[in-house]
This record gives sequence, structure tokens and C-alpha cells, in this order.
Amino acid sequence: MRLKGKVALITGGNSGIGLATAKRFIAEGAKVALTGRSRTTLDAAAKELGPEALIVKVDVTDLPGMERFVAETVERFGKLDVVFANAGITQRTPLGSTPYELFEKILNVNVTSTFFLVQTCLPYLSHGASVILSSSIQNVNGRPGLSAYAASKAAVRTMARVLASELSPLGIRVNVITPGSVDTPLLDAANGGSYKALTRSIPLGRVGHAAEVANAVLFLASQESSFIQASEIVIDGGATGAPLGAPIYR
Ligand code: NAP
Repeated sequence: MRLKGKVALITGGNSGIGLATAKRFIAEGAKVALTGRSRTTLDAAAKELGPEALIVKVDVTDLPGMERFVAETVERFGKLDVVFANAGITQRTPLGSTPYELFEKILNVNVTSTFFLVQTCLPYLSHGASVILSSSIQNVNGRPGLSAYAASKAAVRTMARVLASELSPLGIRVNVITPGSVDTPLLDAANGGSYKALTRSIPLGRVGHAAEVANAVLFLASQESSFIQASEIVIDGGATGAPLGAPIYR
């Protein structure tokens, strides 16, 4: 049990990577508080996760709502040890046809809300706590049409380093997971449900599974990573580290 007695908060825990992580955390002995917006998937998650989970419908951009959610988590479980800022959105924002509001929305959900989540949780975090932020390999690879998303995920990676500097004196760790293409509703929507073209650009020849990302989050959440600070774990089947090994070049 790698998280026995720990309390974890996960944003976007009702779907994809967040849900897989919530399941894994509970299996490893944690109590989990999670949030999302969709009543349907929140209810499904509640059924699947059982009594070890506190499930609250709140939008991460609703700062007073998030303050209430964090306080409720601590009230219910008595403390907070792990924060996984996972909620995120992607939409195309091509140069030439992107409305200001859409660009702002992506930055707000992915970056601003992440910062304020950590700020809201801070009074409850103590020595040994672990904060994990969710970036993306779009933080480096210049994929066309994704200016807002790519900028947001690069911002998350950089912000994690600043937060790690600020929180190191308190013994709180801040690290980043950087998924590549992972089979979730978000990837489905971005790729029209077909991963054929995508997999040709991944050296391991397939997309990842949410559970494979959850394994990395679990490692960063647990004491096994106790000397890992301000780091990034890339979980992408080699897409950014060894792009020329992809099937498309074989
Ligand atoms: P997903 O299944 O679509 O999950 C996204 C989660 O974020 C959902 O639970 C969603 O809740 C929640 N969310 C979005 N906006 C929110 C808001 N304003 N307030 C509260 N919750 C909100 O996609 P996923 O792939 O697991 O994505 C999780 C994270 O991984 C994201 O940050 C994403 O950028 C990152 N990522 C994913 C991939 C990939 O290939 N899948 C690659 C790189 C990075 P509702 O459904 O209720 O809105």
C-alpha cells in the first residue's frame, strides 16, 4: 500500500487520466476527493470508487467553489497530502481564426486554475506533501493549431519549477507529468476517434492507457519519489525523446 493513510485531491477525477489515478490511489490505500463538471460521469465515478471517495461537482475556474471543495475535503478526511492538478481542456486555436474568448478559456482552465488550486490547498499542505501538475508533450513539439493548449502546458511545466522553489523550504514537492497520446475522451475528441495517424508517430507504435499515466502519478505522489523535486516525467511511448524511431520512419 504505497499511499496508506494519505488523502489526495484530484481535479478532473471523473474521466480519463484523473479517474484512472483515483482508482489507483484508492487501491493503494488513499482517500480521494475529486471534482469535475459532468454530473453523469461524477455519478458514475462515485459508484465505481465507493466510500473512499468524496465527489463534488465544481468547475476549477470557480475559485470560491474550489475553496469550499478543498475545505470540505479536509473536513471530511482530516488533512491533505497529495494534490493532482489534472483537469484540462484542449481545443484548436489556429492563427487567423481564433476568438479571444476561446484562447483565454484554455489558459484559464489549464494554467490560472492550476495556480489557484495550489494556492488554495497550500494552508493544508505540510512537510512531505506532493503536488503533481499535468502538462503535455505539446509543451515542446510545435503541433500546428494548438497555440493556446501548447502555451498552457508549457506554462504549467515552468510554473511547477517556480512552485517547487517556493515550496521546497516547507518540504513540499512539486513535479509534472507530461503525457503523450493517451486513450481518453480528450484524445478521442481531438482526433475524431481514430488514432491511426497518431500511432505512426509513436516509437512504441501505440497510444498510451490512462492507467499507465496513473502509475507515474502514483510514483510522484508516494514516498518512493521523496528526492524528486521540480521534475517532469514524460509518458509518451518515446514520441518526444526518440521521434525518429517512430513507425513512420521505419
Ligand atoms: P478527459 O478524459 O477529457 O478528462 C479531463 C478532465 O478534466 C475531465 O474530468 C473534466 O471534467 C475535467 N475538466 C475539464 N475542464 C474542467 C473544469 N473547468 N472544471 C473542472 N473539471 C474540468 O481527458 P484526459 O486526457 O484524462 O485529460 C486529463 C489531463 O491530461 C488534461 O490536463 C490534459 O490536458 C492532459 N493530457 C492528456 C493527454 C491525452 O492524450 N489524453 C495528453 C497530454 C496531456 P468534465 O468532463 O466533467 O468536464
